[in-house]
Amino acid sequence: MSNSPLVCYTKISPNKNCPRNHKIDTITIHHMAGNLSIETCANVFQNTDPKKAASSNYGIGSDGRVGMYVEEKDRSWCSSSGDNDHRAITIEVADCTGEPEWRVSDKAYATLINLCVDICQRNGIEKLIWATSKTDRKNHKNGANMTIHSDFKSTSCPGPYLQGKMPQIAADVNARLSQPIPAPSTDGATKFVTNLYVNALGRQPDTAGLNNWVNQLVSKKTGGANVAQGIVFSQECINRNLNNDAWVTMLYPAVLGRPADAAGKQNWVNQLNAGVKREQVFYNFVTSPEFDSYCKSCGISTGKIDAPKTSKPTTSNTVTTKPATDTKTIKAGDTVKIAPTAKYFNGTAMPNWVKQLTWKVNSVSGSRAILGKSTNGRYNINSPVNVIYLTKV
Ligand SMILES: [Zn+2]
Repeated sequence: MSNSPLVCYTKISPNKNCPRNHKIDTITIHHMAGNLSIETCANVFQNTDPKKAASSNYGIGSDGRVGMYVEEKDRSWCSSSGDNDHRAITIEVADCTGEPEWRVSDKAYATLINLCVDICQRNGIEKLIWATSKTDRKNHKNGANMTIHSDFKSTSCPGPYLQGKMPQIAADVNARLSQPIPAPSTDGATKFVTNLYVNALGRQPDTAGLNNWVNQLVSKKTGGANVAQGIVFSQECINRNLNNDAWVTMLYPAVLGRPADAAGKQNWVNQLNAGVKREQVFYNFVTSPEFDSYCKSCGISTGKIDAPKTSKPTTSNTVTTKPATDTKTIKAGDTVKIAPTAKYFNGTAMPNWVKQLTWKVNSVSGSRAILGKSTNGRYNINSPVNVIYLTKV
């Protein structure tokens, strides 16, 4: 049983039963009774106090991002009904206004439709059916497969706004489900690009975007690494604001066409948490033998991207060497070496033997340094040199 590729953030709640005891055939939409971010909602669901312990499978923030708190294979503690939660995917949606209406944002609503479509498609639910009668909903009469919290308990959840939207939600989801699903293509380039869209962007590709990338791959104008880079580092993917764990979880299926293995994933998450840049981790993925063979299996060239400028941890206190043009770095008493391109301060040529030795600086005034004795003690030149040519040794 899979989880939604729309998930941007995962924090599993201890409040659940593993596994659920019923096939998924229902969706139960709740509201958070507050404008909680998906991260805050996750923290609420970490509470194991028996009076407060709760959870849901998914949460949607007002920013339209999706959090996962209980995997689909497991039963959440959400609707005050074990029977319901064993067969339902439960979704908590943030409210952008308070009581009495408890509205949800347009972004949250749009994501809710996307998530319901995805849940239906992956779980073989042909359409959503909202019954106006509570009894019919609870008994799944005539195929009714949407329930609400107040069907099982005296509660205002999901609030007047969402409850009033239930017929519209069913209509919006069903309109999407009835669209012809393009036949799965056996074409490798299409598979490669679609896989990137679904995992990195959490959505099916639009026709124009898909055709553009596929054409570039088929015509060999570009390679897999370049397309993967374009999508994984697109603004759309960045806007998903994936944490390190979710980002690596996304990267494996997006770039290698397979789920992450636990050990491999942990290694990369640890590196990211230690400050290694995502560009570096990505570079390692697309220069791996596995990526090469994945591209070959899709009939596309592997492609090549530039190595990231630095692989140093971003969080380390990198000491920046000041450029030699900063006269403060060269001062009287310093030992210096001279750049091979150096000339004397007045522009006349400097003999190579001078450049091959190291010197003590007598004095510095602005960019003009006077060199004194050579460190081997054999020469004393008292020559003016521009400090740009000098490096401390
Ligand atoms: Zn509820």
